Amino acid sequence: MIRKLLKREECAKCRLCCCFDSYDLWETPVINEETHDRILAEFKPDQEFLELEDHYLLKMPKEPDRDLYYCTLLDHEKGCIMGEEKPFDCRIWPFRIMDLKGIRVIVLSLVCPVVQTRPLCEIQAVAKELAPQIFAYADENPSAVKKYISGFPIMLAEE
Ligand code: SF4
Ligand code: SF4
Repeated sequence: MIRKLLKREECAKCRLCCCFDSYDLWETPVINEETHDRILAEFKPDQEFLELEDHYLLKMPKEPDRDLYYCTLLDHEKGCIMGEEKPFDCRIWPFRIMDLKGIRVIVLSLVCPVVQTRPLCEIQAVAKELAPQIFAYADENPSAVKKYISGFPIMLAEE
């Protein structure tokens, strides 16, 4: 969550972005080597990962009776056990970074119900402020950049 747009209490009542169904498992956070090591050393020593080419994904068990996967780092009472150290994807949510025909763009996920209540100009201003940090992270972690999906509103395109 982006603190500048969302209040901690609003997210505490929601937690929507910390659970996934089988259609949006692609939205689970990209875990780079550094975050992978920190999770095991400081937060959840028994966490299992899916190992991909240049990053990891958190292994999340499916709920027995529903098409639902809760993030294994979610404490249902207190929120993300990583706090401010959560993966970058989660820190910039509901922004995502995507590639639109070779141009990197910062888009807004419409899954977040609360951010949609904020004025567009405010959201765009925050996207602009965070853009250098987001693009720098994407330079180091190309797997964080997803192919553009039609329908995601673009807040900013890289110049
Ligand atoms: S979906 Fe939005 S409001 Fe809900 S927990 Fe995530 S960031 Fe917060
Ligand atoms: S790492 Fe934390 S913020 Fe990210 S999806 Fe899991 S519980 Fe939510």
